[in-house]
Amino acid sequence: MRQPDDELASLKQASLLRQLPAYDRSLINFSSNDYLGLSRHPTIISAYQQAVDQYGAGSTASRLVCGSLPPHEQLENLIAEAKGTEAALSFATGYATSVGVLAAVLQKGDTVILDKLCHASLIDGARLSGATIRVFPHNHLDKLCDLLESCSRSAAENSRTLVVTESIFSMDGDAAPLKEIAELTQKHRALLMVDEAHALGIRGQSGMGLAEELGISELIDFHMGTLGKAGGVAGGYLAASRSWIDLLVNKARSFIYSTAPPPAQAAAAFAGLQIIRSAEGSELRKKLWDNIQVFQEHTGLTAQPESAIIPWMVGDTDQALDLSFQLREKGFLVPAIRYPTVPRNTARLRVTISADHAPHDIRSLADCLR
Ligand SMILES: *Cc1c(COP(=O)(O)O)cnc(C)c1O
Repeated sequence: MRQPDDELASLKQASLLRQLPAYDRSLINFSSNDYLGLSRHPTIISAYQQAVDQYGAGSTASRLVCGSLPPHEQLENLIAEAKGTEAALSFATGYATSVGVLAAVLQKGDTVILDKLCHASLIDGARLSGATIRVFPHNHLDKLCDLLESCSRSAAENSRTLVVTESIFSMDGDAAPLKEIAELTQKHRALLMVDEAHALGIRGQSGMGLAEELGISELIDFHMGTLGKAGGVAGGYLAASRSWIDLLVNKARSFIYSTAPPPAQAAAAFAGLQIIRSAEGSELRKKLWDNIQVFQEHTGLTAQPESAIIPWMVGDTDQALDLSFQLREKGFLVPAIRYPTVPRNTARLRVTISADHAPHDIRSLADCLR
């Protein structure tokens, strides 16, 4: 039988062993997804506390049994309104959303077409669904077009074809050509799911993401995201038409067979989403983009960042780990990202900028990197 210690040894050998980092508050954090600093926002914290007092610590059961409480419903109404869809459904996490939605919407005989760099949760959901999986090279519209064409030729009647992409990619921080993808998908009568995990709070007039910014929200069938990143709390969501949401309530197994997230989590996420959409949210976004510009100018990066995620490409895994270690000695927390999170030989430091960062800290990090 394979022994776990042997597996661990071979991971270590390849510099791919992962260990939980010790908590160290003395470091300046350039690795979190709390892009607007909302995880410590007093309004959100007090919404959390009040909801614990009112509803208790836990939801006590699945949503379909007795776990569905007013904060869940309020959050879903707000998400639907913010996304301009008929309805929305909240999940415990973004991961549970991806897996639950894809496996509920797709089945054997359907086809799911994913960007090569799609998040692990989307890949896992696609695999679980039993649908045929097709992958196009990152942001490659021609290849996507080829796949859509070959699908529309061979698809059985009644089968579904679903295109899946992120709007902002989690490890590269670049944007998808979302308008073109949406138009191509429409043209071939396929469905489109967009994961806005790293665009919510960052892009769009009211911070609702890249689809909002591009004015193409109505071309998207499934708006997915998480409230654990710029939202500052936790929880995933799916915004769509009423029929799709009703179907998910009946078929999404990660929704049905799991205790509902604590009502206080939903209440806090509600408060986070409200802040993102408010004038205060706009100000935080402006601060964030100013900070991103400080980083860009001081590192001399030529490409204009499209999000708060800026990969510092290294390539070699050991070198990336070493650089991350050196930065740690200088007081910065910047993790090395390596296979299998990113393709082999593309190890990198994943720098994330927040509205909370002091510009002088960003400049010091930039100086170290240079
Ligand atoms: C983080 C992430 C998720 C998962 O969301 P969680 O709420 O953290 O489970 C899904 N998709 C993408 C692109 C992500 O970056």
